[in-house]
Amino acid sequence: MSMHRGSESDSGVQLLHDPLRNKGTAFSAAEREALGLRGLLPPGVQTLENQVQRALENCRKQAGPLEKYIYLMALEDRNQTLFYRVVVDHLDEMMPIIYTPTVGRACQEYGHIFRRPRGLYVSAEDRGRIRDVLRNWPQQDVRVIVVTDGERILGLGDLGSNGMGIPVGKLALYVACAGIHPRQCLPVTLDVGTNRDELLADPLYLGLRQRRLTGASYDAFVDEFVDAVQEVFPRTLLQFEDFANHNAFRLLERYRERVCTFNDDIQGTAAVVLAGLISAGRVTGAGLTEQRLLTLGAGEAAIGSGDLIVSAMMEDGLSLEEARGRCWFFDSRGLVVRSRDDLAAHKQRYAHDHAPIGDFLAAIEALRPTAIIGASGQARMFTREIVQALSRIHDRPIVFSLSNPTSKSECTAEQAYGWSDGRAVFASGSPFDPVTIHGKRFVPGQGNNAYIFPGVGLGIVASGARHVTDPMFRAAARTLAAEVSDEDRETGSIFPPLSRIRDVSARIAVAVVEIVRRMGLHRESLPDDREALERYVRERMYQPVYESLAGVRTTAGRA
Ligand code: NAD
Repeated sequence: MSMHRGSESDSGVQLLHDPLRNKGTAFSAAEREALGLRGLLPPGVQTLENQVQRALENCRKQAGPLEKYIYLMALEDRNQTLFYRVVVDHLDEMMPIIYTPTVGRACQEYGHIFRRPRGLYVSAEDRGRIRDVLRNWPQQDVRVIVVTDGERILGLGDLGSNGMGIPVGKLALYVACAGIHPRQCLPVTLDVGTNRDELLADPLYLGLRQRRLTGASYDAFVDEFVDAVQEVFPRTLLQFEDFANHNAFRLLERYRERVCTFNDDIQGTAAVVLAGLISAGRVTGAGLTEQRLLTLGAGEAAIGSGDLIVSAMMEDGLSLEEARGRCWFFDSRGLVVRSRDDLAAHKQRYAHDHAPIGDFLAAIEALRPTAIIGASGQARMFTREIVQALSRIHDRPIVFSLSNPTSKSECTAEQAYGWSDGRAVFASGSPFDPVTIHGKRFVPGQGNNAYIFPGVGLGIVASGARHVTDPMFRAAARTLAAEVSDEDRETGSIFPPLSRIRDVSARIAVAVVEIVRRMGLHRESLPDDREALERYVRERMYQPVYESLAGVRTTAGRA
């Protein structure tokens, strides 16, 4: 077969630049022949395993987490199969790099570490033609969009268009943790400006240099985006991520009945907290309906968790009033109580009859909660005094410090275990290393939404659900809690190990599909029995393995 040069658009060499199809040094001899790749690669044919080994060596050689992030993003740009093989097989090591905490640093530095664009930017300048911008995306069968407007990136505040790191990272987790196909994932940043002066003054900032759209023009912009998504990608799940809470709650209410959407900060977090509580209750010996929660923060994560926990407590037999009475919140102005006149709408349903308390420690003494949950975005708010006070009240106090990234965590694992004499049942939003106290080793669980949203997303995509509903998140939470083994709990962990996450996601997806079917929200025809359903879901999961391209003909390979 003689070789001649094809056009750039369909030549074999283009495969080397297409991260979805590129295999690099793993193109077989037959593929190199057929695709016009002879001479364009070193002659040795490598396996995916060889490539993984090389990528790991290179990644581990990098000076620090941010450099590792840059390395891994470049790998994803070159060869997605290899990138996902590395991530899937080493999730414990890779997740803190591609997601929290490193992704937070990456977003802060986005303009400075920028190499190639990823995802789709829809800016305020695109008003009136957002559907055309969506049509520029090269893939047509998009099934999951993660969108941010960059206003509340992790606990780091307004990062404008630098927020793109978050949808990119979340979608990498959809692929790695639940096997959504990379081709079906679309990260989107709505650039409506930023109010952060350092970014506006930074010559390397890549977003619009204007203050944020607000009010009616912001709403009209988001409306146009959501409508355009329905038109261009009608089968997609739309996940809102890292919007400031003054928009997050509103937008969720506005769209949840209209389109297939959810807000991960509100609903995904809620499910992981609910799962954590059920699982922690198995350690402390208290059922969900016996818990009394005091949450630091009353924003998206906090109130979202409260709402789902209340609905789960009601499922377990409490009345609405009883369930709400077990959930207390403490925001930047103190305990959320009825006499306050400064409460946003989403907090009012938890404004109980109680004297105002301005000090969190005093609130613990007054309310004697079984669990404290940190979702304030404020570092080190769970002090020694607080953890010790809770440990005096309960033999096994539950302490969740969910704020991300690590620098914002309300307390560290070492502090929670140390100050409670190893009695705290602890989970955090960002990962902490195992801790040894009095010779006993504790493996802190990561109360990370990555246990929930990928599996929920897989269930939605596999069933073609029209809407996302709270029962799906409750089912996801109960499924996740059921996946925690006695062995996990003995080491102090109330979540399953990350190494099991694909299996856990598949089970969550099946639970979600069953709810979708029960509610009649499916658009796919689904098998009837559970075993077949489980097979149906698992068969849809993307595996990072190379498929043979030897049969593919390109101009360059034609004789
Ligand atoms: P948010 O802005 O909606 O809420 C923050 C809340 O904290 C507000 O109610 C605010 O009043 C309160 N707050 C601020 N300062 C406080 C103080 N000094 N004392 C008491 N309360 C204070 O943000 P959010 O979406 O709820 O996120 C909060 C944090 O939770 C972030 O750090 C985020 O990264 C983290 N989070 C973690 C997970 C997870 O890992 N599972 C999921 C979602 C959010």
